[in-house]
Amino acid sequence: MQCIHCQYKESRVLESRPAEAGESIRRRRECLNCKHRFTTYERIEFIPIIVLKKDGSKELFDRSKLLRGMVRACEKTGVFHSRLERLVEEIEGYLQQKTEKEITSKEIGKLVLAQLKKESEVAYVRFASVYGQFQGIKDFVEALEQLQIELESSDCQYPATSLLEGSSSF
Ligand SMILES: [Zn+2]
Repeated sequence: MQCIHCQYKESRVLESRPAEAGESIRRRRECLNCKHRFTTYERIEFIPIIVLKKDGSKELFDRSKLLRGMVRACEKTGVFHSRLERLVEEIEGYLQQKTEKEITSKEIGKLVLAQLKKESEVAYVRFASVYGQFQGIKDFVEALEQLQIELESSDCQYPATSLLEGSSSF
C-alpha cells in the first residue's frame, strides 16, 4: 500500500481490526520510509449471484441454504460434511467465474446432482426428489434407471444394496 506522504510502496501493519460490523478490516499502517501513519480498509469484492426460481422470483445465492439441502440428502450415506462444504465451494466458485451472474435454480440443481452422483447414489436420488425434479413415481423410476445405466457404464463401484437400504428411509 503506497504511502500517501512519500509514495513509498512498502508499509508495515501496526494493527488490524474488524470494522463496519465485520464487513471490512481496518489496518493501521506505517510507511517504512518516512514513518507516516495511515489507515486502510480491506473489503471482500462482492459479486452477488442471482438465482432465478421456478416461480419467477429472484433471490441471492445462499451457500448455507444449498449446503443444508445437500447435508439432508447425504444423511446416513457416509459422505462427510467437510466433503459437502468442498462441493458447495466448488459450485460457488464455478458460479463466480461465470460472466452471467444470473442462474436458474434448476441449473444449480443440475450442478449439485452432477456432484452428488459421484458421491452417493442415495444422496443423488434424495436430492433430485427433494429438488422437485420428479413430478411423480414415473419420473422417479426413470431417474433410477438412468442412474443405473450411468453407473454400469462408469467405473463407479457402489455396493448394489445401498440404494435399496437408502430408499426405505424416504
Ligand atoms: Zn512515506
